[in-house]
Formats: sequence, C-alpha cells, structure tokens
Amino acid sequence: MMIEKFMRKTVGYAAHSATSKLELFEFRRRDIGKKDVQLEILYCGVCHSDLHTARNEWQNSIYPVVPGHEIVGRVTQVGSEVSGFKVGDLAGVGCLVDSCRVCPDCLDGLEQYCDHETFTYNSPDQHTGKMTYGGYSSHIVVDEHFVLHISDKLELAAVAPLLCAGITTYSPLRHWNVGSNSKVAIVGLGGLGHMAVKLAHAMGAHVVLFTTSPEKIADAKRLGADEVVLSKNPDEMKVHRKSFDFILNTVAASHNLDVFTELLKRDGTMCLNGVPAFPHQSPSIFNLIFKRRQIAGSLIGGIKETQEMLDFCAEHQITSDIEIIPIQQINTAYERMLKGDVKYRFVIDMATLKLD
Ligand code: NAP
Ligand code: ZN
Ligand code: ZN
Repeated sequence: MMIEKFMRKTVGYAAHSATSKLELFEFRRRDIGKKDVQLEILYCGVCHSDLHTARNEWQNSIYPVVPGHEIVGRVTQVGSEVSGFKVGDLAGVGCLVDSCRVCPDCLDGLEQYCDHETFTYNSPDQHTGKMTYGGYSSHIVVDEHFVLHISDKLELAAVAPLLCAGITTYSPLRHWNVGSNSKVAIVGLGGLGHMAVKLAHAMGAHVVLFTTSPEKIADAKRLGADEVVLSKNPDEMKVHRKSFDFILNTVAASHNLDVFTELLKRDGTMCLNGVPAFPHQSPSIFNLIFKRRQIAGSLIGGIKETQEMLDFCAEHQITSDIEIIPIQQINTAYERMLKGDVKYRFVIDMATLKLD
C-alpha cells in the first residue's frame, strides 16, 4: 500500500479555553507511517472526561483541546507494515494511542498503566511534538497496535461508547472476578454506569443500581439491574448493609463514600471509576478496618482487554443506549450531561461536520 506523504487537513471541534464553547477548528494530522492506520471517523461518543478536560477541571488542559476518545470509523489508508487492517474495515480507537511497549505494564497488556502512555487527546504527542487531538474530528491516524476491530453485526453508533465507557467498566468487573456468585453494586446511571449494569448482568451477577435520580428506576431495570436503590434514601440503603462483594462507583462528582463502603461485606472492594473535579471527603477508617474493606481505583483497560470486551459485547449483543447529535449541538449536550439528562450516552454523528 502506498504511503501518502502529506499531512492531511483535518476539521474538528475544539475548546480554546476553560470557559469558551467548543467551535470549529482546523489542524493537521501527522503523515501516515509504516505501522499507522488512518480512519475516517463516523461516530464519536461524548464522555464526561471530555467535559472535565474541555473545562480544565483536572487542571492539566493545554489548549486547544479537541476531545473525544470513543471513536468508530472506517479505515481509509494503511501503512506498508500494517497487517491487521485493510482499507474499508470498520475500526475503533479508544482512550490510548501509544505507550512505551517495553515496560512491565505494556508487556502485561496493561498499556493504560504505562508511565509513558499517550492518551488520545490532551497528551504530549511524540510524533508531532504537540498535544494529541481526539475524535471530535474528521479523521485520525493511529498505530495499528492501538486500533480495535469492530463487529459489523452491531449498530455502529451504539458501539462507539464501548471504547471508553465499555472498557472502563468491563476491566474492573473482570479484575475483581464478577460472576454468577457475585452481588454487585453499580453507583450512578450515566454513560459508564449504564454499561456497567449491562456488562455485570451479562456476566451473571446479581446487580443493584444506586442512583440519585428517581426517574431512572424503570430504565435501570430494563438495562439489567435486579434491584434499584435511591441512594439518598437511608432506609433503602440500610437494607443492603454488609452485603456486596464489589461496588463499582461511576459518579462524576465528589460525594460521601462512607454510605457505600458500609454496604460491602468483609473483604469487599469499592472501585472508583469517577474522577471528579474536587476530591471526595476522606473516607471513614472505621468502615474500612472493621471489615477489612478496600477502596480501589481503575483506569480504562489495555488494548487486548478492550478487544476482548468488544468481542464479548458482540457475542452478547450489548451496545450503549445512545442519543445521536450533530456536532453543532455539543455545547448543549455538555450542559445536559451535567444535569444527568442523557439516556445514556451522546454520540456525535461526524458526518454533520460537513455542515459547518
Ligand atoms: P455521566 O454520563 O455524566 O454519568 C455520571 C453519573 O453520576 C450521573 O449520570 C449520575 O447518575 C451520577 N451523579 C450523581 N451525582 C452527581 C453529580 N453531582 N454530578 C454529576 N453526576 C452525578 O459520566 P460518565 O461519562 O459516565 O463518567 C463518570 C465519571 O467517570 C467521570 O468523572 C469521568 O471523567 C470518569 N471516567 C473515568 C474513567 C477511568 O478510566 N477511570 C474513564 C472514563 C470516565 P445518577 O443520576 O444515576 O445518580
Ligand atoms: Zn472516557
Ligand atoms: Zn510501557
């Protein structure tokens, strides 16, 4: 396959400061290298991390920020040494586009824990010397090691959120051995939470969803929750004290963790997925030591496990519940996401970029 020797003009949407709206932005992707795959981006999911980064809530944003790490599209070009993809294939890119490949984490297939990983956006890009730009854009060039195979049996737009929300919840559910003997709590029914409910249900667990939103109760049951608890109701919470093997907490804001740790059995673990702008108040040590409970964290998932998750979802017919939006509505979508007003992931139809 010929390697095109020019940097492709790319159009996308970027935030230029923490307080400015996302707007049209033109930039250039790197030349396609021998091991690179170029995708035309068809759909990109909208993760709460996109909002945290666009608004510099983690105080690490370098502008302009082009968010987006739930990317699905079609391969339009491949480098001469690419063996796993050909022009015309469906393909996906998640939160990672590079890592060192030689450290123990990389060798274990856990590239997300590499000290030198490159995230899909707002990350120093060794190829260009600039920052990486994400999936709210027309196309992307990525080393094939970080490109995923996508089934053509599932609705493509609804697969996009699997690339972050799917793997971020699948990885801890697997790591903590969730299965048919587990009683599992999922906290928060947003993008991550609704995928966690579907995945834990498919793994055979007894799933209890904890939400602050009474209007989500019926949906949670439809998505696979065996029980739903309003976390602001102490009487409903009491029923589940000391009963969970595992809690996956996906809440995007700081909150009192103690009301959840006391729901764990002896040796139970609560894994935090959420990365709020402000820290949680310090958890009660008593809650932890008296039952040897643990609070842990988990970051997305490695490439091998991401492919395993995509294959698991294809086998179990699992996709995200989505609302498709034109890119021109991204700023309104952020406001709605902040209010928990999305069922349950916005996905941008990237064809609408052409309307600008
Ligand atoms: P989301 O769609 O906005 O869902 C977050 C959910 O948290 C809401 O739907 C809501 O559920 C619950 N919530 C309760 N109180 C809230 C409050 N005061 N403000 C906001 N949400 C509140 O977000 P997401 O995309 O699932 O992401 C969740 C968090 O995970 C974010 O912090 C994101 O940055 C982080 N994240 C982490 C990783 C990782 O690798 N660890 C990967 C992706 C995302 P109810 O209405 O049911 O209460
Ligand atoms: Zn994400
Ligand atoms: Zn590494």
